[in-house]
Amino acid sequence: MSTPHTDPSPGHLSELHRQWLAALEPELPGALEVRRRVHADPHLSGAEGPTAELVAAALGIAMEPVAQTGRAGRTGPDQGPSVLLRAELDALPVNEATGVDWAADTGRMHACGHDVHLAALVAVVRAAAHLDLPLGLVPVLQPREETYPSGAQDVVASGLLARHETVAAIGAHVHPGVPAGQVATGAGVVNAASDEIEIVLTGNGGHGAYPHHAADPVSALGHIVLGLPEVVRRTVSPMHAATISVGHVQAGEASANVLPSQARLLATMRTTDDRDRRAIPEQVRRLAEHQAQAFGVTADVRIIAGEPVLYNDPDLVERVDGWLERTGVVPTEPMRSLGADDFSFFGELVPSVMCFVGVRVEGHDETPPPLHHPRFLPVDDAVGDVARTLINGYLAAVELHHR
Ligand SMILES: [Zn+2]
Repeated sequence: MSTPHTDPSPGHLSELHRQWLAALEPELPGALEVRRRVHADPHLSGAEGPTAELVAAALGIAMEPVAQTGRAGRTGPDQGPSVLLRAELDALPVNEATGVDWAADTGRMHACGHDVHLAALVAVVRAAAHLDLPLGLVPVLQPREETYPSGAQDVVASGLLARHETVAAIGAHVHPGVPAGQVATGAGVVNAASDEIEIVLTGNGGHGAYPHHAADPVSALGHIVLGLPEVVRRTVSPMHAATISVGHVQAGEASANVLPSQARLLATMRTTDDRDRRAIPEQVRRLAEHQAQAFGVTADVRIIAGEPVLYNDPDLVERVDGWLERTGVVPTEPMRSLGADDFSFFGELVPSVMCFVGVRVEGHDETPPPLHHPRFLPVDDAVGDVARTLINGYLAAVELHHR
């Protein structure tokens, strides 16, 4: 362990950049091996233990448990401020159809590129072993990115960032919407806040031939489903991105002539502004309760809070883009969407940036499979691209800290 630098000069950072990229190259073949082993043996959210163990061993530094199945460690100066680098551990319940000989055949799949992120983090940390890092580097192997309760929220709640005096958090995610060789950062909001809405309607069932004797929650549910987009229109300025999508409706027991007593829906609510995020639930409640009343049933509305808006710190983004350019990587158009990533919990505490690393290989006519698709498989070069992005992110965070 080296002692912390107080003020790394620009020359020192450039030299560190050069040395780190040089040290990265010999680590990439081993990292690719890690990628294949992780990919071949995927584990779902909350059950990532074997993956965490494999990757922690490959990192070559002491790692401690965090957020149940996660791990965190530290390299560089063992005291003072640090920069957090995040990689996710979990796979998805997808039947892999890539056809590679290291494909998983367990009904679980790394279909979101987390195998690539983990391998890249291994290469970055191993390459840093003999370097003179100005700030601590805290690699986090984060569980449960794909489900609730959020792994990032648990990492934050564990006090890890306070213990390591974390000054910035860096995330990188492969993205098939960005051409290979390019990286999309973008200042400000890049992903939405994501919350769930559950509405349960309770009425009085009966015979389908005698609806006038029943209090039918199905009709009320139908009106509520159609009314939810209107809630957004009536609550949120059209200049703000927001949406509600109903993903699940349930009523009855597969019988045509039995009116059920209960009906239920689940919807996802995506917002990009805190005021909208607070205002919509009240209006949803109003719509559901009054529609229910109109149909003689009652409504129970529950909002299940998810992750906050993913906000890329503008000062950090500017510096990340600068380092990317020095690496010969083209910073490209931001990938803003109403997708969500729980990396945003780190951004609530410290300046953070999520970088979308391009994996779309040009020259293919076929549109590449999207994230979470059974054939999503970034090329091996993605490991090096993500690793270099994380290194650039670390250097940007050092600059920001010492400005
Ligand atoms: Zn992902």
